[in-house]
Amino acid sequence: MREIEQRALQAYREHFLEEPLLIASAPGRVNLIGEHTDYNGGFVLPCALDKRVAVAIGLSDHTLFYSADFEETRPLCEKRGGSWADYPSGVVWAMQEQCLALQPVQAAFAGEVPLGSGLSSSAAIEAATAIALDGLFHLEMRKKGLAVLCQHAENAFVGVNSGIMDQYASLLCQAGTALLLDCRSLEATQIPLNLAEAGLALLICDTRVSRELGATGYNERRLACERAAYTLGLKELRDAHLEDLDKHCGEEQKRARHVITENARVLQAVQALHRQDFGAFGRLLSASHRSLREDFEVSTPELDAFVEIALHSSALGARLTGAGFGGCALALVRSEDTGVLLRKVQQSFEARGFTRPECFSFQPASGAEIVK
Ligand code: ADP
Ligand code: MG
Repeated sequence: MREIEQRALQAYREHFLEEPLLIASAPGRVNLIGEHTDYNGGFVLPCALDKRVAVAIGLSDHTLFYSADFEETRPLCEKRGGSWADYPSGVVWAMQEQCLALQPVQAAFAGEVPLGSGLSSSAAIEAATAIALDGLFHLEMRKKGLAVLCQHAENAFVGVNSGIMDQYASLLCQAGTALLLDCRSLEATQIPLNLAEAGLALLICDTRVSRELGATGYNERRLACERAAYTLGLKELRDAHLEDLDKHCGEEQKRARHVITENARVLQAVQALHRQDFGAFGRLLSASHRSLREDFEVSTPELDAFVEIALHSSALGARLTGAGFGGCALALVRSEDTGVLLRKVQQSFEARGFTRPECFSFQPASGAEIVK
C-alpha cells in the first residue's frame, strides 16, 4: 500500500473505530500537450501524477465522510453545500440518479494532490470515491462509465463546468503511459511514456499564481474559438486547417491558429512517443508554449520564466499546462538534472520577486485502483 492509502486507512480506524472493507485511490493529472483543444473537439494527452487521493470505506447506518486533510466529518449533502463533501456526495448522487443500488457508507479520505492548483485534486477525489463505491457494491461499471459519471457529478452537482479529460485521466491512465483522448469521440488510447527507462522525468512547477482572474480570459477564448469556427461554417475548430486561416483576421486568426497547430502537435507528440524520440517530444512541448504565449495569449511572466529557465538548463522541452493565466508549468528533464533545475527556479523566482513556487518531479503513474 502507498503511504497515502495507509493514511486513509489510519484515519478510518481512528475515526470510525473499526476496519474498513475496502481501500482505493486515484491520482491527480497533468496535461502533457493539447491545451484549449478540448472544447474545440480536439485532442489532449494527459498522464497521471504520483500524487493521489485515497479513501478507506465501509458500511454504516448513515453516510458520513471524514477528511483527514480538513480534519472534519460531514454527512452526505443532498445538494451543493460549498464544502469538500460536495465531491463525494456528487458521486453518490450521480450513482443514485442511475438507479445504482447503494447502501449508506462511512468513508475516510486523505489526499496529497495540491488543492486548486490545476492538477485536478477534484477529479482525484471523485474517481477515488467512484471506484471505491463500484468495488464495495459490485456495480461492475467500466472505468469510462465511472469517468462520465464523475464528470456529471462535477458539472451538475458541484456546479463546475469541466470537460471530461480530468476524470478520464484519473481513472484510465496507467503507469508509464500517457492517455491520448479524442474529446469529440471520447476514444482513449494508451501511449507509451516510459520516461524512467530513458533516464527522464517530468517536473511540475506550480507558480501559485491564482487562476481566478483567468475565468474571464477563459470565457473570452472560448467565444473567440466559437466565432472562428462559425466564420468557416464549422461546428468546431477541430475540423479547420491552416489554409483556412486566410479567412480570419486579428484575434480570431491567432486563436484559431493555436487550436489548429496544437491539435497537430498532439498527434505529432504521440508519433514521437511511439518512436521513443523524446527530443522531438520535448520540442513539441516548447512549441506548444510559444503558441499559447503568442497566439492564444494565456501565459504569465511566471510561466514564461519557468519555461525559459528550464530550456536554458538542458530541459528537453517545457510549457505551461492547464488553461494558463497562472497555475502550473511542466518540463521534460533528465532525472539527474532535476535537483539543479529546482534550485535555479527557486533562486530566479526569488530574484524576480515572484511568489515562491512549489515544484516536484514525477514519473507517469497509475490511474484509480482498489488496493485492498
Ligand atoms: P483542482 O481540481 O485544480 O485541484 P478544484 O477547485 O477543482 O481544484 O478542486 C479542489 C477541491 O477538491 C478542494 O477545495 C476540495 O473541496 C476537494 N478536494 C480535493 N482533494 C481533497 C482531499 N484530499 N480531501 C478533501 N477534499 C478534497
Ligand atoms: Mg478541479
